[in-house]
Amino acid sequence: MGNKKLVVITGASSGFGVEMAKEFSESGYPLLLIARRLEKMEALNLPNTICRKIDVTDKKAFENAVREAEEKYGKTDLIINNAGVMLLGDIATQDGNEWKRMLDINVMGVMNGMQIVMDDMRKKESGTIINVSSIAGVQAFGNHGAYCASKFGVTGLTRVARAEMSPYNVRVLSIMPGAVATELLGHTTDKNIIDGYNQWKEDVGAVNITANDVAKTIKFAYELPQAVSLREIIITDTKQDA
Ligand code: NDP
Repeated sequence: MGNKKLVVITGASSGFGVEMAKEFSESGYPLLLIARRLEKMEALNLPNTICRKIDVTDKKAFENAVREAEEKYGKTDLIINNAGVMLLGDIATQDGNEWKRMLDINVMGVMNGMQIVMDDMRKKESGTIINVSSIAGVQAFGNHGAYCASKFGVTGLTRVARAEMSPYNVRVLSIMPGAVATELLGHTTDKNIIDGYNQWKEDVGAVNITANDVAKTIKFAYELPQAVSLREIIITDTKQDA
């Protein structure tokens, strides 16, 4: 384990989360991985890693897992609030339960993760929180109504937290990726929207960026000196046109 400190990653069972888990583990960080599909995280078989089946909207369970990992590896130095869902739909017709799910996971889940570590980070006067927003957290896209609401929310709450935490020398960053091939689109229930999105990716050729590119960028931001805050990172495929 060396002198590397605990890194907590939510949404570590696929996409960006898996790539971050591998990248941080390769550099020797002890990890707490959180998602609902436990078997996917355990299959990574990473050393010094605790995997827990947790829904980030369950604050108590989330906090218990963090405290358990901290017992073993010491206080959290980095939390990456990455768990999220994207259920695209037309605001005029989309089922309100889908809006609620997005807001609960993408916004409340992130706030839960932040609150769980903030007090200790303030006391230590050190630490980093990285929230995964989206380019849809700074720009509007068709059929992204509730998703944009959730990700603009993440962008906003991250800015507020940055101001609140800066006197304590704690970094609060957000990363806003553009389209990257992961499981994310697969949860959208409207097939026409999925087809349209895939058609756009094909037309523009904008999916050459990988989840691993995003993971490496997040690790780069974290490994800068504590005095350096890469506040907001917008990262897209070079060919992404919006
Ligand atoms: P994936 O669908 O591949 O991964 C999402 C992860 O979040 C999974 O590990 C999933 O695990 C987890 N998750 C979802 N809901 C919950 C929950 N309630 N509790 C705990 N974990 C949960 O998508 P990505 O890797 O693409 O997405 C990661 C983040 O990046 C998301 O916040 C997404 O909005 C954001 N993003 C993605 C972009 C992209 O184009 N791919 C672009 C911009 C932002 P499980 O289902 O096992 O719980």
